[in-house]
Amino acid sequence: MKSHAKVVVIGGGVVGCSVLFHLARHGWTDVVLLERDELTSGSTWHAAGGMHTINGDPNVAKLQKYTINLYKEIEELSGQATGVHLTGGVLLAATEARLDWLRGVVAKGRYLGIELEEISPNEAAELMPLLDPKQFVGAVRNKEDGHLDPSGVTHAYAKAARKLGAEVERFTKVEDIVRRADGLWRVITNKGEVVAEHVVNAGGLWAREVGRMVGLELPVLAMEHMYLITEDMPEVAAWNAKTGTEIIHAVDFDGELYLRQERGGMLMGTYEKANKPWSEFQTPWNFGHELLAPDIDRIAPSLEVGFRHFPAFQNTGIKQIINGPFTFAPDGNPLVGPVRGLPGFWVACGVMAGFSQGGGVGLALSNWMIEGDPGADIWAMDVARYGDWATMAYTNAKVRENYSRRFSIRFPNEELPAGRPLKTTPVYELLSARGAQWGVAYGLEVPLWYAPEGVKDEFSWRRSSDFTQVAKEVATVRDGVGLSEISSFAKYEVTGEGAAAWLDRMLACKLPKPGRMTLAPMLKQDGRLIGDFTLANLGEDGWFLAGSGIAEQYHMRWFEKHLPDDGSVRIEALGQKLTGLSIAGPKARDVLAKATRSDVSNAAFPFMAIGRMDIGMAPCLVGRVSYTGDLGYEIWVAPEYQRAAFQTLTAAGEEFGIGLFGSRALNALRLEKNYGSWGREYRPIYGPLEAGLDRFVAYGKDADFIGKAAALAERKQGGKLRLRAFIVDADDADVIGDEPIWFGGAVRGWVTSGGYAHHSKKSVAVGYVPKEIADESDGFEIELLGKRHAARMQPAPLFDANFERMRA
Ligand SMILES: Cc1cc2nc3c(=O)[nH]c(=O)nc-3n(C[C@H](O)[C@H](O)[C@H](O)COP(=O)(O)OP(=O)(O)OC[C@H]3O[C@@H](n4cnc5c(N)ncnc54)[C@H](O)[C@@H]3O)c2cc1C
Repeated sequence: MKSHAKVVVIGGGVVGCSVLFHLARHGWTDVVLLERDELTSGSTWHAAGGMHTINGDPNVAKLQKYTINLYKEIEELSGQATGVHLTGGVLLAATEARLDWLRGVVAKGRYLGIELEEISPNEAAELMPLLDPKQFVGAVRNKEDGHLDPSGVTHAYAKAARKLGAEVERFTKVEDIVRRADGLWRVITNKGEVVAEHVVNAGGLWAREVGRMVGLELPVLAMEHMYLITEDMPEVAAWNAKTGTEIIHAVDFDGELYLRQERGGMLMGTYEKANKPWSEFQTPWNFGHELLAPDIDRIAPSLEVGFRHFPAFQNTGIKQIINGPFTFAPDGNPLVGPVRGLPGFWVACGVMAGFSQGGGVGLALSNWMIEGDPGADIWAMDVARYGDWATMAYTNAKVRENYSRRFSIRFPNEELPAGRPLKTTPVYELLSARGAQWGVAYGLEVPLWYAPEGVKDEFSWRRSSDFTQVAKEVATVRDGVGLSEISSFAKYEVTGEGAAAWLDRMLACKLPKPGRMTLAPMLKQDGRLIGDFTLANLGEDGWFLAGSGIAEQYHMRWFEKHLPDDGSVRIEALGQKLTGLSIAGPKARDVLAKATRSDVSNAAFPFMAIGRMDIGMAPCLVGRVSYTGDLGYEIWVAPEYQRAAFQTLTAAGEEFGIGLFGSRALNALRLEKNYGSWGREYRPIYGPLEAGLDRFVAYGKDADFIGKAAALAERKQGGKLRLRAFIVDADDADVIGDEPIWFGGAVRGWVTSGGYAHHSKKSVAVGYVPKEIADESDGFEIELLGKRHAARMQPAPLFDANFERMRA
């Protein structure tokens, strides 16, 4: 075994081998994979080997498509058969709600280049002869489904990597990992030590234990999972003889089952409701090629449905039940990327669909390690989407929920209950008493809307029980004054003598003067967005940044990576050390003036001003800005004062008819202002010109901000896309995001977000289209629940296009 390597990859499952292959293919060949046993000795060897392109997140779906297309290449490169059978498959709906969901999947497929086609139950039965069409209301055909040989694929990755110069050491167990003073990693094994610049944790079933070697508690948990294999079935033999083809894959969502042909019989697996975690606290190191005891009672309810939906199963015997463990992150997507605070330590774990996702994970990670950027929008699998709040118990609750809902529909207005409430702010009870319906962002409970007694969210693809109430909240803001909680923003304090110069380099905007704020896009080297903030200059107190709450860890990783070593700049993510309230609407100033002794007149405290003032007895930091696009204030307050500030504002607002509004009303308000948001409109694949944030980029400032050259080039060349708002001719449903935008009979763009703008009484969609058609006003259509709706471009904001209200 070599003593030094550029990269040590820990784990020889499908994921580690894919990472090794991708590193070598990308040109890093001084790389070694350490496997404590034979390759495939974790969850990989007993997988059912199914692969498919669909995923709830379109960016993950793209990587799944890449993975499936890769098998041919690694087979050719390695000479190792992968056993790929691209049979195609059917996705089955037994309810109308499921069919609506599937139509959304088909629509998404159109702009992802995934060929999906809605078919009738009878057409599905012609393709998949074992199903009873009477049990279903519709189906979708996917030509890119199939299965493979898990061991063959893993060895093909490893052999291809070796051919490119990478090394694989089997029976080499990593026992400890220590960071040296010079930043290199000592990877200590039962066979000696390798010193490496980078370490990749692809430990699969043991990823948690490998993480603990460097003091990391990764949010992953293994679950038991069962599939059965039947005896040979005459129906299968007859079909094979008649058509010369295998029986295609099927996913029966309402039965929570997946099926495929396995030799002369069938394989049927299920994500059972009565699921069971495996090795909740510590994965035993001596676990290897053994299986877990099957528990047919646990999967019996799903099998009952399966036997009804696929009657031929009633007449066949079960040859074998496989029960094996594999790992999940709380939301079921992989954990990939560099770990904040551990330079050179990377993770590629929590991959629950290694044969659909392993290639994409390897590609993204190797790009990231070599180029400094994953090369794709992989937010849905970025390890930074979790923070310290994703504890072991939280992970346990969430993984179990996610497993049991693997095939369940999640409606756009549906909030999942497991692991909640976890983080709450001091006004939580006060807001609950006023009817707050809670959602969650980065572990924190956030008020979505306020329900009158006895009214609750009814989960639906269409407008629901909250619609009239959200309309009232919007009217409260636009006609008078509303109060909302905004603690879920990420807040950062930047101090030190080098702070101004550092921010000037990190952010693309012009730095504001003391007592002023500005919008602050942050770019990567390639000129694309990596953040958008409100930056405030607090004078002697340093600088204050507010940004997307879900991206706190993501942004801190980026900030810390770029901090100077000399201690001249300090940045702290304030988390819930600082909570927030906001008041907005034409009467917001009247309320604030009554609540404080400070001068908040327009002359003394104009738009984009920021300063400290007491609200009642509570010391606060108040900024004159509002995401509602109205006259408004953001009020930052230490948690011990939040209740007092809330009560003062509520009392002061009484005579002005103050009312509470939640994030759904805020969405309706920002949509009619054409305001985008991080994670939707602003993502790391768009340039500032494309995203319409170029007006906040100080292209001419002296500072050589990160991404400047690329941003200038984008401005010169014009980029490819434009973010645009549309008015949709919708009836009882509004867009939610990821719907295709049609133009001239073809899909030309995609929706990033939308909803109903209650004040303007319009259904709004925001999304990207190619710049060539970005100035057309008509001729657009947006596909919603399987139907194309006419859409008109809305270049100016529907509300207050001249920005008079917020400056008044
Ligand atoms: C019953 C069942 C059915 C499944 N069906 C499918 C399916 O149809 N399609 C699909 O895509 N996925 C399926 N999966 C999931 C799939 O198996 C996983 O997604 C995949 O195996 C994850 O691979 P991995 O490389 O991340 O982890 P693992 O396969 O667990 O590999 C990790 C490797 O790291 C090694 N390792 C760990 N710690 C150390 C250390 N300290 N030193 C050295 N080596 C170490 C281990 O020995 C192991 O070989 C199924 C899983 C099960 C259990």
